Amino acid sequence: MNYHQYYPVDVINGPGTRATLFVAGCSHQCRGCYNQSTWDPRSGHLFDKQMEDQIIADLTDTRIKRRGLSLSGGDPFFPGNLAAVKQLLERIKAEAPGKDIWLWTGYTLDELSGEQQALLPLIDVLVDGKFEQTQADPSLTFRGSANQVIHYLHVNDI
Ligand code: SF4
Repeated sequence: MNYHQYYPVDVINGPGTRATLFVAGCSHQCRGCYNQSTWDPRSGHLFDKQMEDQIIADLTDTRIKRRGLSLSGGDPFFPGNLAAVKQLLERIKAEAPGKDIWLWTGYTLDELSGEQQALLPLIDVLVDGKFEQTQADPSLTFRGSANQVIHYLHVNDI
């Protein structure tokens, strides 16, 4: 997996103070996509063990407390990203327990493959669906268009 941006401290992409990773790779081609440079899975930088270690260190940092990690892109559920995302989330559960995981994907919950569904137990909140320009609404929180749904899978609410 490659990634485009990592923000060790972020207060925009999800609730509270968090870390946020924007991965490379997306096949949805939404009209009006704000992040077309991430579509190519070979773009950006290699997401290696050093980056994994950095995320774990940031999530366990006691000086700046992060509530959790946001994963966006690109699409973390792009098929070529699933193994690396799974490994990262399993490490977070083991080494930074109690941190919440928010994940944005262009697939709807109903469209997920078996391999994608297998990651859901590791994700607290899933924001799903393509960006639909005709339903775009800047007043929405944590989503760009009204068709997208915030699924609170393992937490009740923010
Ligand atoms: S899912 Fe996101 S990154 Fe992919 S095309 Fe749609 S808006 Fe762009």
